[in-house]
Amino acid sequence: MSLYGDYDPQNIFAQIIRGEAPCYKLYEDDEVLAFLDLFPQSPGHSLVIPKRAAARNLLEIDPDSLGPLMRATQRLAKVLVEELQPDGVQVAQFNGAPAGQTVFHLHMHVIPRFAGQGLGIHAANKADPAELEALQARLVKRLAS
Ligand code: 5GP
Repeated sequence: MSLYGDYDPQNIFAQIIRGEAPCYKLYEDDEVLAFLDLFPQSPGHSLVIPKRAAARNLLEIDPDSLGPLMRATQRLAKVLVEELQPDGVQVAQFNGAPAGQTVFHLHMHVIPRFAGQGLGIHAANKADPAELEALQARLVKRLAS
């Protein structure tokens, strides 16, 4: 998959939006959905996606949909920092396979970063479901407060 091509409605994030695939949901409204990454680069690695746009990447999305996406991304970044107290927080987004994109529905990565941990781009291991559940509970509670 490159930068160009058709949107595949069967991609995993489209399935998550439709409720056909599970996720550790953190936040949802009419415009966006936020959930934990299954292969986190660090604890709390989260994804924020637009729900209405069939956009594979940043170049394809209607600019009016960017406001809600970025608002939710900032809110989640703040909540991750408050709850997990990382040394930094990375917000990243890739367009096209050569740029690192593997799922072709636009998404923002929000990744707590801890000193000395390194900057992995893709994690090899699936997270422990118990750890994801515990993180989900903490973050959902803080998002609601
Ligand atoms: P990309 O490389 O496309 O920017 O990022 C895709 C992200 O989606 C990766 O961080 C990967 O771990 C994550 N991911 C892939 N499949 C799933 C899935 O089924 N559920 C969740 N929650 N994350 C996924």
